[in-house]
Amino acid sequence: MSDEKRFGMLIDLSACIGCNACAVACKQENDVPLGNFNTWVESWDVTVDGRTFRANMPKLCNHCEDAPCVKVCPTGASFKTEEGVVLVDADKCIGCKYCMAACPYQVRWVNDAGEVDKCTFCYHRTSEGLLPACVGTCVTRARYFGDLNDPDSDISKKIAELGSEGLYADLGLKPSVTYVGLSETLDAPIVSAIHRGGNVVKPFEG
Ligand code: SF4
Ligand code: SF4
Ligand code: SF4
Repeated sequence: MSDEKRFGMLIDLSACIGCNACAVACKQENDVPLGNFNTWVESWDVTVDGRTFRANMPKLCNHCEDAPCVKVCPTGASFKTEEGVVLVDADKCIGCKYCMAACPYQVRWVNDAGEVDKCTFCYHRTSEGLLPACVGTCVTRARYFGDLNDPDSDISKKIAELGSEGLYADLGLKPSVTYVGLSETLDAPIVSAIHRGGNVVKPFEG
């Protein structure tokens, strides 16, 4: 087992009911302003074997091991902690938005002070051994958090049991957020608009 920790999150899509409790808890914990989200849930309908199901997909910063946002940041404001958590040092951020352009997951936003912000894996909590707000509040235990380098952690055991896939894994960024049931969810035919927090983000095209 490695001495280095690598914080990660596993989201079991078969357990997620799209209640958005995680998104609300995150906004409250991190004081995320109106109109912005550090984590959110996208929902749509799919058909499988002639039956219609609701697909729910929580998203957040993937805390990529090979993070392009960190590489392009000209000031060192975007950086990685010793646990592999990608953070933004607001004091060093000049608001150039290079990191936003480099992130294929579109998880960064600009705050009123002109600094870039995003999910921190609730580092103020997780660096003290607590769970991120979204994980602690999840009503169905769809989200797991812990040390990916510790084979005895809950998250490592769950990944060993169920397997997991990262979003856009083909980009090779090695996301620390992975999903159970990702291919099944994304491969199923979509039969509705895609909603995010109750708003349509992609109309149904038929
Ligand atoms: Fe950076 Fe985007 Fe990866 Fe987060 S998801 S580490 S912001 S590239
Ligand atoms: Fe770095 Fe801030 Fe520029 Fe992003 S907006 S690349 S964090 S200085
Ligand atoms: Fe899904 Fe849990 Fe978030 Fe509800 S709280 S939307 S079940 S991840």
